[in-house]
Parts: sequence; C-alpha cells; structure tokens
Amino acid sequence: MSVDFSTWVKRAEVLKPESRLYINGSFVDAASGKTFDDISARDQRVIAKVAAGDTEDINRAVAAGLQVFEAGTWSEMNPRDKKAIMLKWADLIREHQEELALLETLDVGKPISDSLNVDVMGAARTVQWYAEAIDKTYDEIAPAPRNALAMITREPLGVVGAVVPWNYPMIISAWKVAPALAMGNSVVLKPAEQSSLSALLLARLGTEAGLPDGVFNVVPGLGAEAGQALARHMDVAKIAFTGSGPTGRKMMQYAAESNMKQVALELGGKSPQVVLDDVKDLDAAASAIGWGIYYNAGQTCNAGSRIIVQGQKIKEELHAKLAEFVKTFTVGDCLDPATLMGPIISTQQRDRVNHYLDMVGKDGEKFVFGGANKESTTIQPTLIDSVKHQSAIAQEEIFGPVLVSIDATDESDALRKANGTEYGLAASVWSRDVARAHNFARKLRAGTVWINTFDMSDVITPFGGFKGSGAGRDKSLHALDTYSALKTTWVDLN
Ligand code: NAD
Repeated sequence: MSVDFSTWVKRAEVLKPESRLYINGSFVDAASGKTFDDISARDQRVIAKVAAGDTEDINRAVAAGLQVFEAGTWSEMNPRDKKAIMLKWADLIREHQEELALLETLDVGKPISDSLNVDVMGAARTVQWYAEAIDKTYDEIAPAPRNALAMITREPLGVVGAVVPWNYPMIISAWKVAPALAMGNSVVLKPAEQSSLSALLLARLGTEAGLPDGVFNVVPGLGAEAGQALARHMDVAKIAFTGSGPTGRKMMQYAAESNMKQVALELGGKSPQVVLDDVKDLDAAASAIGWGIYYNAGQTCNAGSRIIVQGQKIKEELHAKLAEFVKTFTVGDCLDPATLMGPIISTQQRDRVNHYLDMVGKDGEKFVFGGANKESTTIQPTLIDSVKHQSAIAQEEIFGPVLVSIDATDESDALRKANGTEYGLAASVWSRDVARAHNFARKLRAGTVWINTFDMSDVITPFGGFKGSGAGRDKSLHALDTYSALKTTWVDLN
C-alpha cells in the first residue's frame, strides 16, 4: 500500500540519517572533525550535520580505492561474479526505495512521488543495466596479418573521482558510478553539499550487496575543499563532473595542474523547444513543453527552458494551452504524494531565479503567468513572452520553473536562435512533416534532439552535450568508454 502524506511527514520528523563519510567500507568522521549543516529544501530545517571531508579524507578514500584496485579484488573479479554483486545492489536499492526517496525529497524538495518512481527506480535500473552489460561486452581482435594476433581490450582506468550536483543526486551518481564500477574501476564520489544523504545510503547498500571495501567511497564536503582535492589528486585517473560551467572550467584547470587526468563534463543548458508553423498537435506540444520545463521545478540540466515559436497565432494558442496545463500541475508540499512540483532547493537558488525574474519588463518582456516570489521558496510555473533572443533570460541557465517565449520569423530564424546560445545539451522540434523535422533536427547542435516529444529518455541512450554543455557521455554502452582506456596487445605468432 502506498504511503500517505501524514505518514511521510511523521517519518520526516523522526529521521536520523547517517551523515558520516563512507570510506573503505565503513562510516567514519571527517579527520578534521568538522561538519556542515544539511538544510532540508522542504522547510529549511537542519536535518543532519554532515561530515565535512577535506584533503585528508579524500587522500584516505583515494588510497583505499587504489589499494583494492591494485589488489585486483574487484578490477580482476570474474565478470559473472561482479554482475551478481551489482544486480544484488540494484535489488537492495529497490528494497530501500522509501528510505532513499525520503532522503532525496527532504534534501532537494522534489515531490515524493518523483523521488520514489523516477529517482530511486532510475538509479536501480541504471545499476542493473550496467550489471547486465558486464558479461555481455566483448573486446576486439584487429584484422592483423595471419602471423600476428592484435587484440584491442578495454582496461579500467584505476580510481575515478565523481563530483555531482544536487538536482538529481541519485540518478546522476548512478550514471557515473555504475559504468565506472562495471568496468572494474574504484570510485570516490563527492556529492553536492545540499544532497549528500542518499549517496551515503547507496554506498552502504553496495557493501551489503558484496562490493569489496574501498571500491565505492563517498566523501561529502565543500566543493572548494573536498571537490578540489579529488580533482587535483595525483592518483585519480579520471574526474567525471556534472554541474555548472564555471566549476567545469575549474575541473579542467585542476586536471591540467595535477596529473592531466581525463575529464568528463556535463554542464547544463538552455534547451530550445522549437514549434514550427505546421505543428500537428498543439495539445501534445503544450503538455510535453510544460513537463519539459516545470518538472523538478525546472532544476534540470536539459530543461526545455526556451520555446521558439514560428507564427503569432500558433504562439497565442500555445501560450493559452500552457496556461491550461499549469492549472493541472499541482504545486505543493513535496511530501504530499499528489504534488507535481515542490519548492526550489534553497533560498539561495530561489534568489538566483528571482534575480532573472526581476529583469522582466526591462526590454518589453511580459509575464503570461507566474512570476517572482520573495516570501517562500516556492516559485509558481512561469511563462514570459516577447523575450529577445540575446537577453540574459534567453541566454543564461536560470535553473527554475521559468519558460521564455521567443518569436521566430521563419524556419531559418528559428534554427539560428535555437543554436544561438553557448549551450548544446538538448533540443526539440515540433512539425507534422517528418522530413522537415528530421532535416531541422540534423542541424540542431545538441547532444539529444527530440522530434514531436520532449524528455523521453532511458539508460539505453547516451546523454551529454555539444559546445559549452560539456564533453563525454553518460548512459548507454558508450559510457563504458568514458571509464576505460583502449589497450592494443600485439602478439607475434611466428
Ligand atoms: P556547482 O557547479 O557549484 O556544484 C556542482 C558540484 O561541484 C557540487 O558537488 C559542488 O560541491 C562541486 N564544486 C563546487 N565548486 C567546486 C570546486 N571549486 N572544485 C570542485 N568541486 C566543486 O553548481 P551549484 O553552485 O550547485 O549550482 C550553480 C548553478 O549551476 C545552478 O544555478 C545551475 O544553473 C547550474 N547547475 C547545473 C547542473 C546540471 O545538472 N548541469 C546541476 C546543478 C547546477
């Protein structure tokens, strides 16, 4: 039976989550003894004092990861046995679905129904999918002369560092940790300050499933301390990062100034949803566009935050349908199973969103619905019309439930505007003519393009950006390449 609102609230009130670092298979305090406050997005209550890892703790975690990697306990384990452990881990994540979902919802403010059905289940599916890939991924033999055997094998890199953001803590962690472990690496994960708790429970469940000690370590801490120490560590072979562009730049700098470790970056976007003048089903478009921006209160790296519409009449109809859509998009307490949109993660992020909303009207823009909220952290779904393509609200990642509407005179104007930001993470195009839509889609500079839909995704397809949205891909079998190096072994058969 599903858990009701009041039961979730009671569980939240008595919650005492584990908040120490997870290193070498055990929970430990930070070497410095320091902690930082974990503030709930739901009511700004301090729900835990989280151990604040720093350089010394990162050194311990990386040493544990390297030691077990070199011992071969995991890196050289029979693929069949590795698969069984990771499958058990996926099962344990599902068994702890409610516990994990509560941590995620309190930390992030995302609706409990989403945490249960999307975040926890998505993380479990990701771990399961990579587990299943372990004994089905073959290496290659090159077409060398008959007197030689030239093998191309994928080798694990060693210790992988993962630094992740707060908007999808479990899913983004799973996208990095699962393929990295499947390839035989060890991992040190640095969660975001706002959302460390689910990662710590994930790590404990990994040990319960049979992951050898040291293979998966979680070191919460401040970005500039724990995150930087991990990215600068001389024994870390790769840093996999999701978050903001400025921090992404720092990751490249840290790598260049230390051991030139590989860097994979996923840095967000300003994804366009292009509605061409022959769009077939405006109801379907309005629904997909609404979900594409307001889901997770717009705090999604690939949120479809710009609509670019060809034709005044279509634009007016679309805006009207979006206004109808948001009436059904229940905004409320994130612990209420009926809620579809909860609060913004923090007062700081709310202020950031308000900063952009305060610009509306300065250059002819106007609210169709929604607007700033300085009183609480709940910002209603917002649509802004008559937005100039070059303005800050059309170019910068707002990371809130804010959709901007930009006019396009014709198809080429729509394409120029769609591609005209520093980002290139995702995009969509709406047209009844599949050939037209397909040609348009091929010209969109984005890692994922949807035609007549938005945000359809699964672990089966790669995810990542063009241009300023980053480099490298999460998800799919391609992510295995992100966490391995190709080795050629040439055998002389004479
Ligand atoms: P951020 O980039 O500062 O934080 C992401 C992660 O990087 C966190 O784990 C953080 O601790 C770590 N970090 C921060 N500074 C670091 C440093 N100097 N060295 C190493 N690690 C460091 O992002 P934020 O401050 O949480 O959010 C700011 C903006 O970034 C948001 O408003 C949004 O626009 C964008 N953002 C994008 C994504 C995404 O999925 N692409 C996710 C979160 C935020």
